Amino acid sequence: MAPKHQAPRGTRDLLPDDLGRWQWAESQARGVLARYGYGEVRTPMFEDYELFARTSGEASDVVQKEMYRFKDLGDRDLALRPENTAGVCRAYLEHGLGGRGRIHKLWYMGPMFRYGRPQKGRYRQFHQIGAEIIGTPAPGADVEMIALFVDLFEAWGFADLTVAINSVGTPASRRAYGDVLRAWLAPARERLSADSQARLDVNPLRVLDTKSEGDLAILHGGELGPLPHMIDHLDADSLVHWDAVRAGLEAADIRYEVDHGLVRGLDYYTRTAFEVHDRTLGAQSALGGGGRYDGLIEALGGPPTPGVGFSIGMDRAMLVLEQRGAGGAGPAGGVYVVAMDATRAAATRLARELRHEFAVELDVEARGFGAQMKAAGKSGARVALILGEDEWNRGEVGLKDLAGGGQRTVARAGLEQALREILASPAAAVARPTE
Ligand code: AMP
Repeated sequence: MAPKHQAPRGTRDLLPDDLGRWQWAESQARGVLARYGYGEVRTPMFEDYELFARTSGEASDVVQKEMYRFKDLGDRDLALRPENTAGVCRAYLEHGLGGRGRIHKLWYMGPMFRYGRPQKGRYRQFHQIGAEIIGTPAPGADVEMIALFVDLFEAWGFADLTVAINSVGTPASRRAYGDVLRAWLAPARERLSADSQARLDVNPLRVLDTKSEGDLAILHGGELGPLPHMIDHLDADSLVHWDAVRAGLEAADIRYEVDHGLVRGLDYYTRTAFEVHDRTLGAQSALGGGGRYDGLIEALGGPPTPGVGFSIGMDRAMLVLEQRGAGGAGPAGGVYVVAMDATRAAATRLARELRHEFAVELDVEARGFGAQMKAAGKSGARVALILGEDEWNRGEVGLKDLAGGGQRTVARAGLEQALREILASPAAAVARPTE
């Protein structure tokens, strides 16, 4: 019988088996971010609806179709965050960070919410890890962002990534390119999907994002001649920026390819846009993306303040790691305390002391010796720490190396040192069942 309550559609429970991998990935990421000198920010999971409407654009899919918008009991118009750049920039302004230093390097990690159609790699609650550099228009910041982006993936064992990059120019050059694109597509307009026809009027660049086979054939099939490229319609400053970013990537030895179709869904992007995909994921292949958003903070009522950032979809990255069987188990090889009736109380105390340094498990059911030894074997612990009554009274304990290393007795005073030695030693050939 199905249980009465299930997690809401599009959401998932992450259980300890999954979280070994997640926590490993998170700690790898924290290490990389700290070494790059980024500081963490945590913003609320819901914000004023207006914040997202204003920054993502009223016409964007996220705002139009995917927003978890609600009224609270005080009749406030709120929304669960679909992404976190808007929240970080709101916090930047609210706390006057701009007055406290010119450049801010920030990162975040946490759940985001979008009301999409759930499928493999697409959830209604998903997790992103992202970073932002706020306060400089310099192309070096874009290069650092992309380097950090790639290095996070590398820390998770993704090798040989190629980043797709493009420039989306400025709002003005984008409008000009939009006109070019609209005119180019005009002869085929009636044959485009309904979605693309609507986009052609509101935001023609979004037609490049189409998933429709028919649209893709029109765009790339050659019947209209070569597809006009955004980078051929950039304003002079954006072109200089584009060249500098590419030179910087080459200098930093970062592999990239230019993707003329990369336009990204959100209105606040300017100039550099980048993305990375993993084709083994099927339809939902984007692992992460980012770009420059020089107009965003101004759109929020702040002074003109350039920024560049990215976000990575943790759920998808973890799917790939899982497929590869990588980054799995948490720290193995702790201690399992096996007690007798007479040493049960001492075992509880000793376990607490040892937990200052070691991973220690203890049987909470007060079962017999045999059951405890069996549980120790199954637990994945490296050492069974046996508290026999006579030994304990003599100030000694038994240690059994569960990876085939034999058994011995040590003095309580030398216990920590003995454990350190066993836990650091390679496992002996695991005892085979006798032939
Ligand atoms: P975006 O803000 O749309 O560029 O998303 C950045 C990254 O977040 C994407 O590349 C995906 O890896 C991930 N992502 C976005 N939407 C979802 C979703 N609904 N479920 C899982 N991951 C997502």
